Amino acid sequence: MISLDLEKIDNSWKRELAKAFKNPSELLEYLELDPQVKSEIAGKPLLKSSFPMLVPQFFADLMKPRDINDPLLLQVLPFSEELTERQDFVLQPLDEQDNFIPVANIVHKYQDRLLFLPKGGCAVNCRYCFRRNFPYEQLGASKQEWVEALNYAYQQHISELILSGGDPLMMTDKEFVWLFNQVLERNQTCTTKIDRIRIHSRLPIVLPQRITAQFIEMCQALASYGIKLIWVSHINHPQEISTLLQEKVQNLTKVGVLVLNQSVLLKGINDSVEVLEELSRKLFQAGILPYYLHLLDKVKGSTHFYLDDVQALELYAQLQTKTSGYLIPKLAREEVGKKHKTLYTA
Ligand SMILES: *Cc1c(COP(=O)(O)O)cnc(C)c1O
Ligand code: SF4
Repeated sequence: MISLDLEKIDNSWKRELAKAFKNPSELLEYLELDPQVKSEIAGKPLLKSSFPMLVPQFFADLMKPRDINDPLLLQVLPFSEELTERQDFVLQPLDEQDNFIPVANIVHKYQDRLLFLPKGGCAVNCRYCFRRNFPYEQLGASKQEWVEALNYAYQQHISELILSGGDPLMMTDKEFVWLFNQVLERNQTCTTKIDRIRIHSRLPIVLPQRITAQFIEMCQALASYGIKLIWVSHINHPQEISTLLQEKVQNLTKVGVLVLNQSVLLKGINDSVEVLEELSRKLFQAGILPYYLHLLDKVKGSTHFYLDDVQALELYAQLQTKTSGYLIPKLAREEVGKKHKTLYTA
């Protein structure tokens, strides 16, 4: 079993998160932008949203000051364009809520793997998030509910458990130890053996401190039991790859964690072949392999980030002429009712 040294628990990331920017004006002031003037110049008045702004200072420090068009800022700042309605942009684009939740905290829509959503909430609120309207309040937060979710997982003969959310790295190290030990125990007694645990998380991009020394030790211990850990980071722009993040990725790779990246193709953020190429190169330098380039899920409030299939395919075709095959992520889209992503080829 894996153990945790309670005396060495490092919760500094939680304190950082508690201090995150929640007020757009304060963030703009921090970036030396005058909210009134700049929003008028950009023609994009700020919006009060039911999906509030949330930006840790670490992420704000990766933004260029005095630039209202900074690609990191545009991902997190609520603009009135979110009010633009389009019939095909809906509250729940993937229909997860009604059709794929067999028990609380589980989304079962893929073959041979399922998603375990331990809790709602993220360290950053991305304006294009496809789960921005997900009913997180319905997630069970007690250990009993997590036990039931795991019971379901082990009845399903899966081999991979995917931790999703919200952001699964919102779980504390103590909760991770509990979860990992649950898997180790059940693997001994059940016919189902989970041999891969995958974490889909953007949290270390905005708060690399989350990858604590104890978390790395836990990953190492898990590997010693033959369970492979995979972290799919969600990096959309090369500017998001900080020095501290690179250090953390190195530490994780050293203990056998495979780090992959999935980006969302976003108009005005990364919809140029130069940015995509630089992103792939910087990811690789940091020890991260480009995995998916995801077409935007049509969630209400995100029309201004949307590129249609023709534009996306054109860009993808250009990217393929620019760099090595292993630096080209798979272009993919999620389609309701399909048990896998739909891949596009140019
Ligand atoms: C696509 C996706 C998955 C499943 O990924 P595969 O690699 O296709 O199995 C899991 N979680 C999220 C958030 C995804 O976008
Ligand atoms: S981190 Fe991921 S789940 Fe959280 S708001 Fe951003 S896109 Fe959504």
